[in-house]
Amino acid sequence: MSGKGSSTAIDGIARETSDGPGPGTLTDGFHLVIDALKLNDINTIYNVPGIPITDLGRYMQAEGMRVLSFRHEQNAGYAAAIAGFLTKKPGVCMTVSAPGFLNGLTALAHATTNCFPMILISGSSEREIVDLQQGDYEELDQLAIAKPLCKAAFRVLHAEDIGIGIARAIRAAVSGRPGGVYLDLPAQLLGQTMEMEAGAKSLVKITDAAPRQLPAPESVARALDVLKCAKRPLIILGKGAAYAQADDDIRALVEKSGIPYLPMSMAKGLLPDTHPLSAGPARSLVLKESDVVMLIGARLNWLLSHGKGKTWGDQPKQFVQIDIEPKEMDSNVGIVAPVVGDIGSCVSALHEAMGGDWPPPPVGWTDAINAKKQANLEKMAPKLRNNNMPMDFHGALGALRTIIKERPDAILVNEGANTLDFARSIIDMYQPRKRLDVGTWGVMGIGMGSAIAAAVETGKPVLAVGGDSAFGFSGMEIETICRYNLPICVVVFNNNGIYRGTDVNPSGGTDVATTVFVKDSRYDKMMEAFGGVGVYATTPDELGRAVNEAMDSGKPTLVNAVIDEKAGTESGRIGNLNPQSVVSKK
Ligand code: ADP
Ligand code: MG
Repeated sequence: MSGKGSSTAIDGIARETSDGPGPGTLTDGFHLVIDALKLNDINTIYNVPGIPITDLGRYMQAEGMRVLSFRHEQNAGYAAAIAGFLTKKPGVCMTVSAPGFLNGLTALAHATTNCFPMILISGSSEREIVDLQQGDYEELDQLAIAKPLCKAAFRVLHAEDIGIGIARAIRAAVSGRPGGVYLDLPAQLLGQTMEMEAGAKSLVKITDAAPRQLPAPESVARALDVLKCAKRPLIILGKGAAYAQADDDIRALVEKSGIPYLPMSMAKGLLPDTHPLSAGPARSLVLKESDVVMLIGARLNWLLSHGKGKTWGDQPKQFVQIDIEPKEMDSNVGIVAPVVGDIGSCVSALHEAMGGDWPPPPVGWTDAINAKKQANLEKMAPKLRNNNMPMDFHGALGALRTIIKERPDAILVNEGANTLDFARSIIDMYQPRKRLDVGTWGVMGIGMGSAIAAAVETGKPVLAVGGDSAFGFSGMEIETICRYNLPICVVVFNNNGIYRGTDVNPSGGTDVATTVFVKDSRYDKMMEAFGGVGVYATTPDELGRAVNEAMDSGKPTLVNAVIDEKAGTESGRIGNLNPQSVVSKK
């Protein structure tokens, strides 16, 4: 321990006294952190123990908090980030100093980018030594490094400021546009003592951490004027809408308007994908042909081709946008009707102002969408029923699609390139916040962290479907899954490599191609090594049987699904983002 007397100080603290804190009874930084978190209803911590936070984790567990230890901070961080998305409370990741902090930082930046509330708490070395650069143990100016990657960053130097520091961190994470917050706790702070009574008084119980933000009435009226004149209106639901937990209000608005909607990937299930107004299977058509588009908690970033170009076709568009962040408006194209506020308030204000006799969109528009949907679904159906060996993506995902249909409250975690792209369109979702994926950055490695947090936060069974490459980023966490005996079934789509397994070294040298892995790896045996169930599946039938069994038993399971190594395309569906060399390939 580099904190001065941190662990011995605590042993002398009279926590156990039955008569309550009398004068002279002490508490310390460790317990003030714990009390401040618990006071604000934060009871779960995702961490990797080590100097100087090992004892903090121990005391947290002793005080009844759930402390889940991971094998790598990045995965603990991804768990905290998705916990924030699922619960609207900041997910907390706790790490050691310098390297542990840096490992957690990717997840903190990911949380911020995705607008998920999260707090990264890292222990740090002594300020006096760090600032004079005298070479302390794991010396690093963590606060300065974290700042540009999160919404807010704070450091607490005195025990009496722990309460306010944690209150600020929580409020910063969840209020307005949610995001990541960094909280720096120097080792020395944890061992600091103060009178227990004064300590208790220094804590802050937050009132209304994320206050409602009502939209201006004129912005609501303007939005409805634009929508009313639309000939081919479209609603796009984003993960901000899923996060808002205004499910009934959103459904009521969509249904009353009669406007077809397109869910972004993590908004799938907000209304069931089988809803008559879902335009999911007619995505290209509605983006191209629509004339008025209302964005609800979705940004016009790269995932929506920035609201312009080929994807959006030649039809002139008018955009209505509902978002809590005023700066989001006009970020890529002009927004004719910005509605700024929290989604629940905005959506119910729109719904109310629509009145009783809102005209449905022209039938020509809805008929064209329905015809396209029908045609696309019919084209897809036989592909999804194939029982080929080796499996292709369609056959394998067809089996998993049925499983989610039969178990709509299970949570689907999804990452990879082709595995992500195909699963997003093939697997229908039926309930809100059941699909967790790579988010705004398309980051690989969220798989096991997300699966663990989903199981821990919701108690529901989790199906984590990823490519063999994506799995590699967080695969060691299957030990964590087994250790906590979580109801998670991991399916690895194993096609022997990144994108596919058939690339060859263009130089003819002995190294395999850059995108190729060991052929026929047995990821299922890794799971068995930790006491979980491993299954090797070569057909969609076998895959479906294994996953159903896992979901019934709740036992940690990994299914190695053998996918044709020739299946899969470069970067899935975003190969166009790979720059091409003008010098031709050998
Ligand atoms: P997607 O990738 O699904 O399109 P984005 O992450 O791009 O979704 O967009 C989510 C948007 O939702 C962000 O602009 C964010 O500011 C907004 N948002 C998040 N929570 C709320 C909320 N409670 N009320 C209003 N807007 C929100
Ligand atoms: Mg692969």
